[in-house]
Amino acid sequence: EPILQINNVSFSYKNRTVLEEVKLSVQKGDFLAIVGPNGAGKSTLSQMLIGLLQPEHGEIVIDGVSYEKLRSEALMRQIGFVFQNPEHQFIADSVEEELAYGFKVQGWKEADWKPYVNELLDTFQLTEQAAQNPFSLSQGQKRRLSVATMLTNDQEILILDEPTFGQDQENTEALMALLKDWHARGKTIIMITHDMDLVYQYADHVALLQSGKVAYHGHPSIFFQRS
Ligand code: ADP
Ligand code: ADP
Repeated sequence: EPILQINNVSFSYKNRTVLEEVKLSVQKGDFLAIVGPNGAGKSTLSQMLIGLLQPEHGEIVIDGVSYEKLRSEALMRQIGFVFQNPEHQFIADSVEEELAYGFKVQGWKEADWKPYVNELLDTFQLTEQAAQNPFSLSQGQKRRLSVATMLTNDQEILILDEPTFGQDQENTEALMALLKDWHARGKTIIMITHDMDLVYQYADHVALLQSGKVAYHGHPSIFFQRS
């Protein structure tokens, strides 16, 4: 059974239909890239997958349970999300505290979380910013902090909206290496991107969204043969 099923989902903003009978199923452990032109409805769909928007028609099912029957906390335990412009979800006064938060909540001792947090700071090139307030970071740094924080939450499904947008080569590679590692551990990854090189290198499924419909869903090699 798929871990995530999008069953004939439609959505409009006011009178404007942006998703039309979207059907997509994601198996546990898939690395799915969602691609498509600007305005195709990718962000809208991803906002539905994290429960921020509700389908007008159709339903989204996670692990056999319709979102309508799930409390948002239950959904958040299973799904992590990196916004295109992370801004409002930071909760701590410093970058280090932001990364440590999840561990502290779980009752970890500092001696146990510190090495892991330091490693994340290093990997995401945020060591120099460890004491800074997350709100003072640049957009690229915020996006990296958001991804790093997500990795501390151990959710089953990760959804990322253009995580490499505006990142240099080095940071893009570091981030993708981590996602690859995470994927190798059996996590399900859904990434919206415009970067076809990343789709080719990392994804094992690709969904092309066009004018609010799924125009292709399958293996990247076949997708790239077509286009
Ligand atoms: P994508 O992520 O593929 O660029 P979006 O889901 O952001 O597409 O947008 C799909 C369409 O819906 C676009 O035409 C966009 O302008 C419109 N749209 C997105 N968000 C809103 C909103 N909050 N209100 C009205 N229209 C919106
Ligand atoms: P994306 O490229 O991911 O669609 P945008 O920068 O277009 O992101 O949109 C940023 C925010 O503005 C999103 O929350 C989106 O829902 C909203 N938005 C996008 N288009 C419109 C629109 N035409 N009217 C109102 N809100 C919009």
